[in-house]
Amino acid sequence: MSAPFTLLGQNGAAKGRRGCLHTAHGVIETPNFMPVGTYGTLRGVPSHLLPDLGAQVMLVNFLHLFFYPGPEALARAGGVHRFFSIPVPVLADSGGYQVFSLGSHRKVGEEGVPFQDPRSGRKELFTPEKVTQFEESMGMDIGMVLDVCLPHDAGRKAHEKAVAVTHRWAERALAAASRERMLVFGIGQGGTFPDLRRRSAEGLASLPFDGYGIGGLGIGEEPERTFEALEASLEGLPEDKPRYFMGMGYPQDIARAVAMGVDLFDCVLPTRNARNGQLFTSRGVINFKRSVFKEVHAPPDPACACPVCRHYSLAYLHAMFRQREMSAAVLATVHNVAYYLDFLAKIRENTASI
Ligand SMILES: [Zn+2]
Repeated sequence: MSAPFTLLGQNGAAKGRRGCLHTAHGVIETPNFMPVGTYGTLRGVPSHLLPDLGAQVMLVNFLHLFFYPGPEALARAGGVHRFFSIPVPVLADSGGYQVFSLGSHRKVGEEGVPFQDPRSGRKELFTPEKVTQFEESMGMDIGMVLDVCLPHDAGRKAHEKAVAVTHRWAERALAAASRERMLVFGIGQGGTFPDLRRRSAEGLASLPFDGYGIGGLGIGEEPERTFEALEASLEGLPEDKPRYFMGMGYPQDIARAVAMGVDLFDCVLPTRNARNGQLFTSRGVINFKRSVFKEVHAPPDPACACPVCRHYSLAYLHAMFRQREMSAAVLATVHNVAYYLDFLAKIRENTASI
């Protein structure tokens, strides 16, 4: 198989780059953003609309799909694309971050990590082998390996250990992967310690991954620490493989990270904040719950070409919110996702012109 990632151009002295990632369900142009469909769908948005919004890839969460509908049901359906009618490539997050955010990281052992499903109460020991093999059987296009994600203030010793365990798990995940059609990405850790970040990245770079995630950042540390750690991670990674900054972020942070050489992003901000009334626009963030919008008969963002901005006004969104109509959250999600994807498309255009 030829290399799945092709670098198409780079911005001279700056490190921003443009590329193409080939997957079993289509090509992803980079830099790009992955809308988050934790349970197999973007909350409130029918999956068939994804290409219309400019989405070329979507993120799902392995842990949640493992518990429901489960790997067997997904395999019987013919994979995650068939089950959830997803018309674009799918990346599976391994769940290392969920383990951290639900407090189970304290139980991480060499073998794996026990995790209890918050919905069903079911318990399961997740190992790197199990996660990667089930991601493959579920029909994912890109599978993230299981990693150890710690709170940013866990201390150097704990982060040093997490880097070592994450590396051994990465080797085990690769050994267990069939590599037939799913691309496998490693995940670098190291907290906010630049030397640990670099050690983690260089260790993973020595393994034949298809791409590399940078994990465990943007979880409460000072923003400048985030970018220092990102820079150290990128220094340790190969140029010819895609780099994915996991969980980032605000548009301005994404633009900064692209200029440093990051290719892929995901974040819950455009979807989660939409449900709280927040709209990302070319004039900054606005909240349609505010009563000042009661009679503003203008689109959320006049510069946006999305279906919401073409057909609806802020006054409409405000009225739907007041009436507790679900369309307010749905339309806000559609706009925010389209806004993010258009933002990335413009960054790609600028990168190509240089
Ligand atoms: Zn719009």
